[in-house]
Amino acid sequence: MKSPHHPEINIGMIGHVDHGKTTLTKALSGQWTDRHSEEIKRGISIRLGYADADFYYCEECGKYSAYEKCPGCGGKAKFLRSISLVDAPGHETLMATMLSGAAMMQGALLLVAANEHCPQPQTKEHLMALSIIGVDKIIIVQNKIDIVTKEEALENYMEIKNFVKGTIAEGAPIIPVSAHHDVNIDKLIETIETYIPTPAMDMEKPPLMYVARSFDINTPGSAPETLKGGVIGGSLIQGSLSIGDDIEVAPGRKVEQGGGKSVWESITTTVETLHTGNSEVETATQGGLIAIGTKLDPSLTKSDGLTGRVVGKPGTLPPVLHKFTMTTHLLERVVGTADDLVVENIKTNEPLMLSIGTATTVGVVTSARGDESEVTLKIPVCAQTEQRVAISRRISGKWRLIGYGIIQ
Ligand code: GDP
Ligand code: MG
Repeated sequence: MKSPHHPEINIGMIGHVDHGKTTLTKALSGQWTDRHSEEIKRGISIRLGYADADFYYCEECGKYSAYEKCPGCGGKAKFLRSISLVDAPGHETLMATMLSGAAMMQGALLLVAANEHCPQPQTKEHLMALSIIGVDKIIIVQNKIDIVTKEEALENYMEIKNFVKGTIAEGAPIIPVSAHHDVNIDKLIETIETYIPTPAMDMEKPPLMYVARSFDINTPGSAPETLKGGVIGGSLIQGSLSIGDDIEVAPGRKVEQGGGKSVWESITTTVETLHTGNSEVETATQGGLIAIGTKLDPSLTKSDGLTGRVVGKPGTLPPVLHKFTMTTHLLERVVGTADDLVVENIKTNEPLMLSIGTATTVGVVTSARGDESEVTLKIPVCAQTEQRVAISRRISGKWRLIGYGIIQ
């Protein structure tokens, strides 16, 4: 069944591995499996780990649900809103992916398993990532309440309260659920509806899309005349795009010029097809994940070749930066490790992993003075002054979040 609705907002599913992100995504999105054409399903929903959910309210029962047919009385419930759930990978090695996913989130559900002590390493690390990126609409979901006693659930609740004190999630609602057994999901939907409203759209601004994924939708051995152009998936953070629009992708591609020299050339193409999570559309706006079919050579878009780029109308995109200076705000301690190490100052010549929008690049520090660092990037980024940069440092073989910078 195809939903006629378009998602208005992206809500992240974050938290430690095995705390129930994927299970809750399914519980919230009900009919999520057959919402996409085969191609798009292959291309986006699998790779992005996302699903769309439609929320309804039954005036008869006063209950919220993910179904048009009210699970309480069987009557027809009123449609409220369609949202996209972005399922962040919980594995610590995938922090870069989590950070680029967070750049597209306007709110998040932080999953905490009630049968483990809170916080677990990635509970802390994911919450810190949200705070660094500036996502502050957070609902804490205390999951797996079916396998703990009431006393244990209360104890875990107090641990959560303690943990969020002084963080961006202090005061956030805490909703106990069992994602697996569909317990209290109605209350969670009600809380999402009231606590994470759709942000106002800025339609006056030119379109700006963060590219999360890109792919080649052709099956191996396709006949040349049936070959389809490259597909770009991501989320519009402002403005709108329509079929037929000319678009620019920046930074585009690296072109070797001989003698070891190379330049980055932007790519221009046209919007041939447009899909939001659930259907083909003429125009897409902010909120939800979209896929743009282009005329580009699929070899450019295959295997996430364009991840981290931005898309907009030609000539309207921010500059492509090969180096920049940022003011830095470092954490006191490294999060996500078992032992909370102190964050040392940034040093000249050290490599840092920088996450800007959906882009991830390594920047080598060419100068570090006080809270200002100048970095030279291995791969350029298309970014504006004032934009936030999540900074990670390699500690014992893993990239760890150490703070953020603001591009000067
Ligand atoms: P993720 O790593 O955060 O995506 O976690 P998953 O959704 O894959 O869940 C991890 C495991 O916990 C799976 O075996 C789920 O079936 C189980 N699980 C998830 N939610 C619940 C719940 O509410 N109750 C119980 N008992 N198990 C759950
Ligand atoms: Mg999962």
